[in-house]
Amino acid sequence: MEKILEPIKKNLTMLEVPSFVDGVGGGLKIGMVNFEGDQDLSQWRKHGETIPVHFDRVPEALKWQDLFPEWIDEEEESEVPKCPEFPMPNFDKYPNMDLIVAKLPCKYPINGWSRDVFRLQVHLITAKMAVKNGKKKKKKIKVVFTSKCRPMLELFRCNDLVKQEGDWWYYEPDVEKLEQKIGLPVGSCKLALPLWGQGNHEEFDVTKIKHTTNPKREAYATVLHSSESYVCGAITLAQSLLKSGTNRDLILLLDDSISEPKRHALELAGWRLRFIKRIRNPRAQKHTYNEYNYSKFRLWQLTDYEKVIFIDADIIVLKNLDHLFHFPQLTATGNDVWLFNSGIMIIEPSNCTFKVLMDKRDEIISYNGGDQGYLNEVFVWWHRLPRRVNFLKNFWSNTTAETKMKNQLFAAEPPKLYSIHYLGLKPWLCYRDYDCNWNREDHHIFASDVAHRRWWKFHDAMDEKLQRFCGLTKKRKAQLDADRKKAKEIGLKDKHWKINIKDPRRKYLMK
Ligand code: UDP
Ligand code: MN
Repeated sequence: MEKILEPIKKNLTMLEVPSFVDGVGGGLKIGMVNFEGDQDLSQWRKHGETIPVHFDRVPEALKWQDLFPEWIDEEEESEVPKCPEFPMPNFDKYPNMDLIVAKLPCKYPINGWSRDVFRLQVHLITAKMAVKNGKKKKKKIKVVFTSKCRPMLELFRCNDLVKQEGDWWYYEPDVEKLEQKIGLPVGSCKLALPLWGQGNHEEFDVTKIKHTTNPKREAYATVLHSSESYVCGAITLAQSLLKSGTNRDLILLLDDSISEPKRHALELAGWRLRFIKRIRNPRAQKHTYNEYNYSKFRLWQLTDYEKVIFIDADIIVLKNLDHLFHFPQLTATGNDVWLFNSGIMIIEPSNCTFKVLMDKRDEIISYNGGDQGYLNEVFVWWHRLPRRVNFLKNFWSNTTAETKMKNQLFAAEPPKLYSIHYLGLKPWLCYRDYDCNWNREDHHIFASDVAHRRWWKFHDAMDEKLQRFCGLTKKRKAQLDADRKKAKEIGLKDKHWKINIKDPRRKYLMK
């Protein structure tokens, strides 16, 4: 026996202790997660008892897309979607821990390293251990990770990081916040809500939400940068939020591209203005539409708020969204594959997170060159809201049956959708008479006259003083006429180009 053991012992690598642990004290009970007996823990034993935490590794066959499926059935009453289970330790066997030390797998820089289910499993086990032990304790539970890559900030908040030293990361997590997150479904294979109860898929079941929120420190926000072309969108958004009955602050981040009269109108519409310096996407080409789309990162600097619901300026809200402040960063609706849509996001402002976003600008490649692609690389674990919260104009296809379903949703009064997201060409940049996405064949997926009319109906109910900011510019009018002409020449089958334009805005052009 002795002879066999001897060589193995020699192979043990010493697990060093980061210097900050000295300050943590001795006599500790230390839960060790994912150290499989190949390491010499004698250095750690100086600080207390090291207790290996046993668990079964998640099956190899389980893939990220099983946790973040592109599509889940939100409407069927018969079947609640099922999520795969993660094997967990028997937590009762590990009571009274003071410190949890975990080794996180990190396949960086291999492509796709961040969407690794085993890595998520170790995070979740550590988080659950921290919550179970941290809740009972008067002293803060401590978590130390060893990992080449930063632990997932979706679970271990940037602000809870106390110290970092080489590959060591030391956290004192906010147990209540962590508890909420691990109480939500793992991934987005289920809605993050008991809101859409069975047989009750028309409304959020608000009664099931524990209101732990602090309305004074919550705000809705949007952003305007680089040009004035979304000013009308931001005005209608503010007005729609006010109409939804919210009492939260409405914060507009804007840069110097917005002129004084427009700023005034935006304030009149309901926004509180905050001036920002726009943020360049270092990978974008100069003078392209996405050159400054990283300006959204400034949302994380709104640290006088604990939670912010960000909403794109091309969205109108039809029903109150206040209960969404309950959800943690990052909560959103699905877009495609395992990605969320960044048009509506619940985020938690933090200078620390802002810095992470800024620091990774050169490293991270956004799949679509936009903020959405970027944010999806930073927040790979997100919580799914029903698609009706941020109803993308191009959800479902434009087949007859699906168009009929969509049209019923777009037009419903009282509204069934919580918001409509006007992807593609924006309604205020079209003539009122029809959705100008029809003018371009590659935009037909976005075209919907019913959604278009819904927007104009909202517009017409606004104060005339505000409507004035939804006019056409000379340049835009020329572009629209050129698009129509082209559609006619090609003879696009939808024949929208035949419609006689009556839009009075043609006569009163804006600057
Ligand atoms: N935006 C802006 N100026 C621009 C482009 C975009 O202020 O030149 C802001 C605006 O709030 C907009 C958001 O960035 O809603 C995202 O862009 P957009 O909605 O056009 O993207 P889409 O949702 O169509 O992909
Ligand atoms: Mn948008």
